[in-house]
Amino acid sequence: MCIFCNIVNKKSPSEIIYEDDEVLAFPDINPSAPVHILIIPKKHITSVNELKDENQAVLGKMILIAKKLAKENKIDQSGYRLVINCGKDGGQIIEHLHLHLLGGKELKW
Ligand code: AMP
Ligand code: ZN
Repeated sequence: MCIFCNIVNKKSPSEIIYEDDEVLAFPDINPSAPVHILIIPKKHITSVNELKDENQAVLGKMILIAKKLAKENKIDQSGYRLVINCGKDGGQIIEHLHLHLLGGKELKW
C-alpha cells in the first residue's frame, strides 16, 4: 500500500490541484514554503532509480505542469524550486516518485 497511490485512487483524501490521465498534483501536507505542491505520476514509480525510457514523456509533463502551477500561484516571476529526492541520502521519504514545487519565499539550501 502506497500513500500516494491511495491519493491517486481517492482512497486517501487530498485537495487535488491538477489532474489528468497521467499526472496528479496536490498540496504537501507539511509545507516547507508558502507554496509547496507535489506533482506525481499516477502510475507507481518508486524513485528516479526506477525510471525507464518509456517514462520520459510523463516526466516532461510533470515539469510543464509545475511551470503552469507556478504561474497560477503567482510565483513564476519571484522564482521557485523544483526538487526530486531519491533514496535515503537524497531525503526521499515517500517511495512514489514526486516532484516538489516550492516557492513564495527566498529558499536557502
Ligand atoms: P520526500 O522527502 O521527497 O519523500 O517528500 C515527501 C513529502 O510528502 C513530504 O514533504 C511530506 O510532507 C509529504 N507528504 C507525506 N504524506 C502526504 C500526504 N498524505 N499528502 C500530502 N503530502 C504528503
Ligand atoms: Zn504509489
